[in-house]
Amino acid sequence: MFDRSVPFVGFHTLVATREGIDSLIRLIEEALAPRGFNTIIAEMRFQFRCFPEYSSGTIAFEDAARLADACEKHGIRLVPLLPCLGHQSDSPWGTPLPLLKLHPEFVENPVAPDATWPEIYHHSWCASNDDVYKYIFPMMDEIAEATRCTAFHVGLDEVFDIAMCPRCKGKDPAALFARTVKILHDHLAEKGLEMMMWGDRLLNSKAMGYQMWEADRFGMYPALHMEDQVTRDIMICDWHYDLHSAGYPSVETFIQEGFYVLPSVFHVADNAEHFWTAALEAQYLTKRYGWPGRLGGILFTNWTPLNDEYVDNLLKAMKGEEAGEELDAMVGKVIRRLEPRVKKFKV
Ligand SMILES: [Zn+2]
Repeated sequence: MFDRSVPFVGFHTLVATREGIDSLIRLIEEALAPRGFNTIIAEMRFQFRCFPEYSSGTIAFEDAARLADACEKHGIRLVPLLPCLGHQSDSPWGTPLPLLKLHPEFVENPVAPDATWPEIYHHSWCASNDDVYKYIFPMMDEIAEATRCTAFHVGLDEVFDIAMCPRCKGKDPAALFARTVKILHDHLAEKGLEMMMWGDRLLNSKAMGYQMWEADRFGMYPALHMEDQVTRDIMICDWHYDLHSAGYPSVETFIQEGFYVLPSVFHVADNAEHFWTAALEAQYLTKRYGWPGRLGGILFTNWTPLNDEYVDNLLKAMKGEEAGEELDAMVGKVIRRLEPRVKKFKV
């Protein structure tokens, strides 16, 4: 069972290679565990046993198990992440991931291979073609088994391509999104796993003043109210990396809806601090008005695959040493800036 009674202090990262797993273990041992981090969300590019042809990286079952051992030793929960529905390209406006490349019938919006922004962002899989789960479920199960996790993060962020293919055209994007949430949730529940997802597709971009990456412009957001499918036991990672001077209405919206919410920050310390300050206001309102959900803690994110050099700089920045201005240093500075405040957080 995923213990929600302790403040969530999490670090999310991409890891693409088996060497990257060692870099992450070093980061955990040298910095994250001593600083009281209790959750790692690892978005691993896996070398699958079940479907080697759909592998997206070099991380083997044994590497993930090694990471699980290191986490267990330090009392850290390891939550694996497999991007579902959206983010099915190897990079923005890149080529589709191997599963979609080898199964073009799953591609929601086929575009020319050289298509670039603004013709395409990330590919999505077709939300009406449930054959995709014949491949996705074994992949999820393999990752879950390797990591011995109690919760699984299914991504679901930044879906742009939906209700576009001949199978989906004319269908309600919110209904397509909600059914995808339920399919994934039911599979995890069957395995005794709780579900985490990014919250952006459940937010009305125009109403909340968010851009179309951190909130939805494509008709999916009404899924927020499809409670029988988007069930309130799902843990929501509500990410905002830009500064929103008028606040972050999504945090209280999710709490009012009954969710356990994790504000998720990235690389700009001022923005991260601003967001966390607003999240604490939402926590005050939650207690004052008895809203059903709650603020669970904070998630720091890192979107560059780890290697030793990157971790070296991140560690330096976390210690307050000169580390430059690259992303590694920025992520480290965010943790350093927020650390004293996060330590005071109580659920
Ligand atoms: Zn479709």
